[in-house]
Amino acid sequence: MTASVPATAAPAAEPVLRRPSLVGRTRAGLTEALAEIGVPEKERRMRVGQLWNWIYHYGVRDFDAMTTIGKGLRGQLAEHFSLDLPSVTAEQVSTDGTRKWLMRMPSTGPHDRGAEIECVYIPEVDRGTLCVSSQVGCTLTCTFCHTGTQRLVRNLTPGEIVGQVMVARDRLGDWPGASPPEGAIVPTDGGRFVTNIVMMGMGEPLYNFDAVRDALIVVQDGDGIGISRRRITLSTSGVVPNIKRAGDEIGVMLAISLHAVRDELRDELVPLNRKYPIRELLDACRNYPGLTNARRITFEYVMLKGVNDSMADAKALVKMLKGIPAKINLIPFNPWPGSKYECSDWDQIEQFSEYIFNAGYSSPVRTPRGRDILAACGQLKSQTEKLSARERMALRAMAMTD
Ligand code: SAH
Ligand code: SF4
Repeated sequence: MTASVPATAAPAAEPVLRRPSLVGRTRAGLTEALAEIGVPEKERRMRVGQLWNWIYHYGVRDFDAMTTIGKGLRGQLAEHFSLDLPSVTAEQVSTDGTRKWLMRMPSTGPHDRGAEIECVYIPEVDRGTLCVSSQVGCTLTCTFCHTGTQRLVRNLTPGEIVGQVMVARDRLGDWPGASPPEGAIVPTDGGRFVTNIVMMGMGEPLYNFDAVRDALIVVQDGDGIGISRRRITLSTSGVVPNIKRAGDEIGVMLAISLHAVRDELRDELVPLNRKYPIRELLDACRNYPGLTNARRITFEYVMLKGVNDSMADAKALVKMLKGIPAKINLIPFNPWPGSKYECSDWDQIEQFSEYIFNAGYSSPVRTPRGRDILAACGQLKSQTEKLSARERMALRAMAMTD
C-alpha cells in the first residue's frame, strides 16, 4: 500500500528572471559571488565561512536569518542571489518508510521548462541513506533499467545535486533544532537522519563529472553538511576514463555496476561495455586511488532469472575479482512497467550468495526498498519532456567522446 501525500511546497509559477541560488556553491564559488557584489578581498574568506555555516550547517532559507552578517550585506546578497532549492512536486511514502520525492529543478533559461528528477530516502535503525540523481534521464541504455528508457534531458548542476540533500533534510526535519514530520520513519540512534549518500539515482554520475565532484566536495565538508567521503558511494556503469579521476578528485567509495561476467552478455545488459570492456574496467578498479581492504569497491550484480544467475556465473565472478579488495552486492531485479526480465528465484539468489560468501566475500543481498512506490533501484524515471533532438544529440555525443 502506498500513501501518496500532496507536497506542501507546491511549485510556484516560475518567475521569468531568477536570482542565481548560492546553494551548491563550493567555497571558491561563494568567494566569486562575494567578489561579484563588491565585497573587499580581505573580507571574503571570513564571509564565506559565515555563509557556509548558515547555508550548509543550519540550512537557513532566508538571508535575513543570517544574523552574524550585517544588515547591509544581507540586503545586497538578497538583491543578487537566492537560496532556492528544487521544489517538491510529489512525495510518496512506502509502507517500509522509504520516501520518494519528485523534485522540480528551477528553470535554467527560456528553453528549459524545469526538469524533474526523483530522489529516494531509505531509513534504517542506525542510518538514513539518500539516493541522489546526477542527470535527468541517462544517455546510456542498460536494458534492465527504467531510467535507461528515458533519454538524457540534461546534466544536473552542483546546486541541483546538493539541493536534493538539502530538500531531503528540510522534509525530514534534519537541521539543528528541527524535528521530523509526524509518523515519519527515521533512524532512532539519536544521530542525524541523512547519514549516507549513494549516487545511484537517475543518470550516470561519471558523465556529469565536474558537477558531481563539486557537489560531493560540498556535501563532505565537515563545517557544513558533513557527510564523510566514506559514507558516500558513487555508482558507475563503467566510465573507465573517469574512474581514476573520481578517486583522485572526489575520494568517495566506488561501486561498479558489473552485472555480467562475460563481455558478450555485458555488451547486451550494459551497452557501455562495448566501449569499455570488462578487462579495462577491472584494470581501472585495481588502480582505484585509495583502494585498500578497509576501502573496498562494491560490485553490483542484478539478479536476472536465467540470464546471469547460474552457478557457473557465480564461480566466474569470484574468479575474475580475485586480487581486488571487493564486496559483492546482489540486487534482486526490480521490475518496472514494460521490463523484459524477471527477478531470479529466491533459492537461486541464496545459492549464488552462499557461493560468493564461502569464497570469502561479504555478499549482502540488497533488500528491495520502496518497491510499492517504484522507488527501488532502477525504477526511477521522471516525465520530463526532452529538449530538441539536436541538443540531445550534442549531449550524447559529448558523453560518448570523453
Ligand atoms: N548509472 C549508475 C548509477 C545509477 S543505477 C549505474 O548504472 O551504476 C544504480 C544501480 O541500480 C546500478 O547498479 C544499476 O545497474 C541498478 N539497477 C538499474 N536498474 C535496475 C533494476 N531494474 N533492478 C535492480 N537494479 C537495477
Ligand atoms: Fe543509466 Fe545506470 Fe540506468 Fe544504466 S543502470 S541506464 S547507466 S542509470
